[in-house]
Amino acid sequence: MPDYVSDLMSNVKAKNPDQPEFLQAVEEVVESLALVMERHPEYRKAKILERIIEPERLIIFRVPWMDDNGGVHVNRGFRIEMNSAIGPYKGGLRFHPTVNLGILKFLAFEQVFKNSLTTLPMGGGKGGADFDPKGKSDNEVMRFCQAFMSELFRHIGPDTDVPAGDIGVGGREIGFLFGQYRKLRNEFTGVLTGKGLNWGGSLIRPEATGYGAVYFASEMLGTRSETLEGKTCLVSGSGNVAQYTVEKLNQFGGKCVTLSDSSGYVFDPEGIHADKLTYVMDLKNVRRGRIKEYAEKYKGVTYTPFDPSLDHNPLWNHKADCAFPSATQNEINAKDAQNLLDNGVYVVSEGANMPTTPEGVNLFIDAKILYGPGKAANAGGVAVSGLEMSQNSLRLNWTREEVDERLHGIMKSIHKTCVEAAETYGTPGNYVNGANIGGFLKVADAMLDQGLV
Ligand code: NAP
Repeated sequence: MPDYVSDLMSNVKAKNPDQPEFLQAVEEVVESLALVMERHPEYRKAKILERIIEPERLIIFRVPWMDDNGGVHVNRGFRIEMNSAIGPYKGGLRFHPTVNLGILKFLAFEQVFKNSLTTLPMGGGKGGADFDPKGKSDNEVMRFCQAFMSELFRHIGPDTDVPAGDIGVGGREIGFLFGQYRKLRNEFTGVLTGKGLNWGGSLIRPEATGYGAVYFASEMLGTRSETLEGKTCLVSGSGNVAQYTVEKLNQFGGKCVTLSDSSGYVFDPEGIHADKLTYVMDLKNVRRGRIKEYAEKYKGVTYTPFDPSLDHNPLWNHKADCAFPSATQNEINAKDAQNLLDNGVYVVSEGANMPTTPEGVNLFIDAKILYGPGKAANAGGVAVSGLEMSQNSLRLNWTREEVDERLHGIMKSIHKTCVEAAETYGTPGNYVNGANIGGFLKVADAMLDQGLV
């Protein structure tokens, strides 16, 4: 069987030589699935794995737009329609200068398994552009979003492909994108999720990814009869996922001592309690400032600027019990993982997608800590996006309590699926195998049922 895996990986590498993040994501899944392939020759015969790795469709397009001074800019837009065997393509849009085909393919690939784990009928997709919203005026962001949707609108639809937010795409961007779609199609429909509450959005959608990552950590701790009460937590990022991770951790009695952005991080030994979090939300979502200002506002807080010459991120080098990486991919390398372990961290719940390098993941697994990989731990966001789609179809709005209860139930069910799949395939406690196998089986069976398409 290792031959099967190494042959398959050689082919994938030969076909996608310049996409390291995509290869990293595929390799992790393929390694977990070796056990499944051994027991299920029918998947091998139908080349399910080879088919799941190849996107159903890639869309790449020009996005020309004009800045406030009349200057013309050209960005590149993407939508990866990865797999629609169990539902319409579903996954976020990322606006960030680092966006490229390989990064979006890795995210779309992960999304297939994540969406399957939620139990909701959603296929996997991802998209975005190499546009940097930082430092742009609201009008510039609006013109960019309109230009982006002027092409994307012909490829998406409520039963075809339903994008949402990701890095650089929050409520403001979803509003501009939705407005342009509605104008071009002359249709008011649930084509995007993360919408405003007055125009089809769901309560709890902004909170969902962060809340979900905390619910997942709480479930993992439950297997050891422990809770988050009194636990010290390291959180990275200060965007959507990080903010609501801190909010839920505070509600569960945890203490968060760090937050970051791409310029540096703050360490607050007293904890980022509710009032301070309100300040962060205003700083990041309204004033669009830098996290450094937090250290200027509150006493006893240290700010450490990002230092690219270091071989590790000092944010992960503080005494703590839990870590919630919530910024970006590969933000925890092997040295960071070792620092976390040396500092007593034994719960890692990934709000971000693939924030830990493969070497770091292996250290966590070997140390037998409670390590929840992103495709399970951060599935709460897309789960509530799925609930937003259901509410749009029903033309109903559920209450905050109802959506939160469903989210909590889904995170418990994802946790159970991971635990059971890991056990069934002989690796108890390994949430990486559990998530990959649990997510794969439903999609694989749907692909078998639907024939060679
Ligand atoms: P966001 O609101 O745009 O916030 C991203 C945060 O991460 C910001 O603080 C940003 O700092 C920081 N960051 C981004 N790129 C970075 C880099 N290269 N180096 C250091 N810091 C960086 O985005 P988000 O929605 O919270 O997403 C965060 C992560 O969660 C991503 O991995 C995303 O794929 C994942 N995720 C999000 C959702 C969701 O529902 N939003 C769902 C599942 C997974 P700057 O402001 O300085 O760039």
